[in-house]
Amino acid sequence: MVSIMKIPFISLKEQHRAIRVEVRDAVSRVFDSQQFILKDSVAELEAKVARFTGTKYAVSVASGSDALYLALWALGIKAGDEVLTTPFTFFASASAISRLGAKPVFADIDPCTFNLDPSKLEDKISRKTKAILPVHLFGLCCDMSRVMKIARKHGLAVVEDAAQAFGSECQGRRAGSIGDAGCFSFYPTKNFGGAGDGGMVTTSSRETAEKIRLLRDHGSSKKYHHDLIGINSRLDEIQAAVLLVKFKHIQKWNRKREGHARFYDRELRGLPLQRPSAPAGFEHTYHLYSILADDRDALKVFLEKRGVGVAIHYPLPLHLQAWYKELGHRKGDLPVSESVSKRILSLPMYPELSARSRAFVVSSIRAFYGKAR
Ligand SMILES: *Cc1c(COP(=O)(O)O)cnc(C)c1O
Repeated sequence: MVSIMKIPFISLKEQHRAIRVEVRDAVSRVFDSQQFILKDSVAELEAKVARFTGTKYAVSVASGSDALYLALWALGIKAGDEVLTTPFTFFASASAISRLGAKPVFADIDPCTFNLDPSKLEDKISRKTKAILPVHLFGLCCDMSRVMKIARKHGLAVVEDAAQAFGSECQGRRAGSIGDAGCFSFYPTKNFGGAGDGGMVTTSSRETAEKIRLLRDHGSSKKYHHDLIGINSRLDEIQAAVLLVKFKHIQKWNRKREGHARFYDRELRGLPLQRPSAPAGFEHTYHLYSILADDRDALKVFLEKRGVGVAIHYPLPLHLQAWYKELGHRKGDLPVSESVSKRILSLPMYPELSARSRAFVVSSIRAFYGKAR
């Protein structure tokens, strides 16, 4: 008989149980104050995130998607411009570019890190190129020193998509502090997630921070006085209050993720699959732990039958998405992204994953390859 254990791909319940009293009190204080928009909790969270990431400013917004959109907007990206990015990411990385009327230009990824391959960037630069948008996928920073070198050489802005990388480090610097702006998402399942939607832009440019502050609040610096057309994209006080509670634990939680990753690394050794790898000098926070397996679809079915929750991030690279047909890409244009999307599989990963659960994940994968022990 096959043994079965119900292991969700992600579960937020155990984490909430550990902080529920603190969260309840924090939310209650917001209700008691009846101050819901851009007040103390938001200001405190912005100050803490700026300090944590090592930037001078942090501006909270309504989502990670808006963080990207507003950062690009504030840096002057406009219709007709081109922005280089990766096709192997969540759709929002590229749609932020398209929302401004600019064109995402996709460059292929590195097969080991799944991040933009800097050696593929320069070929894609044209007279219209204005920025690079690297994504720190799954919690591993893109090779920013090489990205920044290319950006400086060609006079391009750099917006880091750090939606999956709160606390990740790259050559001694935190994600979000290396480019002209860094963008975070507080979507509940992200490694620093709130109780709904939310996002943040970090930057050390005062001009950029001020522009985003205006843009997120209808271009208004003084109530009912509008300097420009913006949007409504603010973080709620309630979200900020919840995030301030979680902020106290984020490094401990990131370390727990890393512990699970070390375990998977050790226990999956010797199997015909590729494990995630962080180059020297990179601190991976394992928002996701994703392996590459040639027989991915069969492995997925096998694991799901045993009750192990797994997921595919991402099944279709962006250059082949329906919306981006207009860019005229064909299958085979970005072969590494296409091959990875057919072989990738994310394993259960969250700080509270138990020792028993992760051991069952590993023994199930070993059983699939006939390498039980
Ligand atoms: C989640 C995510 C976003 C968008 O963030 P939202 O808060 O969901 O809008 C952008 N980029 C990446 C890489 C993401 O994972």
